[in-house]
Amino acid sequence: MSDFTLNLQDVEANIQAACDRSGRERKDVTLIAVSKTHPVPVLEEAYSVGIRVFGENKVQELSDKIEALPKDIHWHMIGHLQRNKVKYIAKDVDMIHSVESYRLAETIDKEAKKCDRVIPVLLEVNVAEEESKFGLKMEEVLPLAEEISANLPNIRIEGLMTIAPFVADPEENRSVFKSLRNLSVDIASKNLDNVNMNVLSMGMTNDYMVAIEEGATLIRVGTGLFGARDYSKK
Ligand SMILES: *Cc1c(COP(=O)(O)O)cnc(C)c1O
Repeated sequence: MSDFTLNLQDVEANIQAACDRSGRERKDVTLIAVSKTHPVPVLEEAYSVGIRVFGENKVQELSDKIEALPKDIHWHMIGHLQRNKVKYIAKDVDMIHSVESYRLAETIDKEAKKCDRVIPVLLEVNVAEEESKFGLKMEEVLPLAEEISANLPNIRIEGLMTIAPFVADPEENRSVFKSLRNLSVDIASKNLDNVNMNVLSMGMTNDYMVAIEEGATLIRVGTGLFGARDYSKK
């Protein structure tokens, strides 16, 4: 069996174990295979063993891969997004995880309208307030959700996303995931138009099991499936 298939078996076993520990069902957690930096043949292999949800963090790479791969794939934009690049992905992207300003939301809304669609998005929250990371502060999330809800009919907020700090022990991130979940419950209680809080995108290779135990519905796993990324080739 290929490395990818073996890795996938491990990740699937871990997801199931985390679901069992927390009384959740496997079907309520979606595994996003984060394929950034990996070439098309590697994604084709993942596709051949059943992967249909991929995550990418660069617009050019995402559009090239959309072009090259089968049409039944769901593509998630998980990286920082510049406003002038939204137009390149507006037609085909399934979800944008990285909305962190009204101006970006406005651009997504405008491009979505041109494509005659509603784009599902997540608000990115920098829960730990790390200097090096993008994302909203906790207290900025509800005001932005309200503003988007009131003004931008071509985007629909489906939930929240966070990139937790890089830590040696994933338990250290449990409180981060709990905070994101609590915030989503808070916002859900406001019943804003066009705002759902059914999606929590949290957990990466190092900490996805803890994230699932704390309610993640989307986990973003790269290294754990594809192995280490080689940035020197780019
Ligand atoms: C690269 C990336 C991931 C995957 O990280 P791994 O540690 O390789 O699993 C997840 N989320 C985002 C936003 C990323 O940029």
